[in-house]
Amino acid sequence: MSAIELENVYYSYVLSEDNIIKAVRGISLKIEEGSFVAMVGHNGSGKSTIAKLLNGLLVPDYGKVRVFGMDTQDKEHIFDVRKSVGMVFQNPDNQMVASIIEDDIAFGPENLGIEREEIIRRVDWALDKVHMLEHKKGTPFKLSGGQKQRLAIAGIIAMKPKVIVFDESTAMLDPQGRKEVMEVAHELNKEGMTVICITHYMEEALGADRLIVLNDGKIALDGKPKEVFSQYEKIKENKIHVPLATKIAISLDDIGVKVGKDIMEKDELVDKLCQLL
Ligand code: ADP
Ligand code: MG
Repeated sequence: MSAIELENVYYSYVLSEDNIIKAVRGISLKIEEGSFVAMVGHNGSGKSTIAKLLNGLLVPDYGKVRVFGMDTQDKEHIFDVRKSVGMVFQNPDNQMVASIIEDDIAFGPENLGIEREEIIRRVDWALDKVHMLEHKKGTPFKLSGGQKQRLAIAGIIAMKPKVIVFDESTAMLDPQGRKEVMEVAHELNKEGMTVICITHYMEEALGADRLIVLNDGKIALDGKPKEVFSQYEKIKENKIHVPLATKIAISLDDIGVKVGKDIMEKDELVDKLCQLL
């Protein structure tokens, strides 16, 4: 079974009778359980709207969103839908609720009505998963951005969702913080969690099993990241860009330094250059 299925989904923000923003315009999509899917697209392409449709924060105007077969419009399933799909947002400071880290992590499971002993186990488990167990008794406010986002992840996984959606969760972080968060995302995925990573860092999209490019509320491209990024013209048409290493490789090719235009990763580029120099 797919973890998530969108069937011809439409969603509009109705601001007034003559001001309707068509944010999602006919998206059909199946996300396999256990996969790591990256989603990119220009500003306003509909990424955050889709994220909210995935866990029932929004419901489609038309079409269906199913989470493990459950229709998100079905009121009897809304609790299970929300429990199945956890969301990590952009601003780490908006996602903390308590002044002691362990209480912050316990908040979600407490709201699910989970018993005390199990909550204690989950807090340790979740903090360990994000490599923050030693901070358990500390305060979240003194942490770095990357640590705060890892804490937000711990708070989500303590509720044991099967799917985790990152909505530009690394956007406010420095390179080190971004790396820490992406490592945790990949570790969770290796243990079986389905990961949907919305990002504007093309380098982060490279590590995914699948890359979906959105443009004006529709899917423009969908495939393996390398295959998607090698369609340079289409990438440009969709107002996104290729990873930096690829950009450099293409520029080098133009001036006769043939490292290969299909280079995507930084390390690959450095290796090729070292061979030539
Ligand atoms: P992205 O996350 O890709 O930047 P969004 O899903 O946030 O895209 O936005 C898609 C479109 O919907 C944009 O035109 C945006 O301005 C509009 N939009 C998003 N949220 C709201 C809202 N709460 N009210 C009105 N318009 C919105
Ligand atoms: Mg967004």
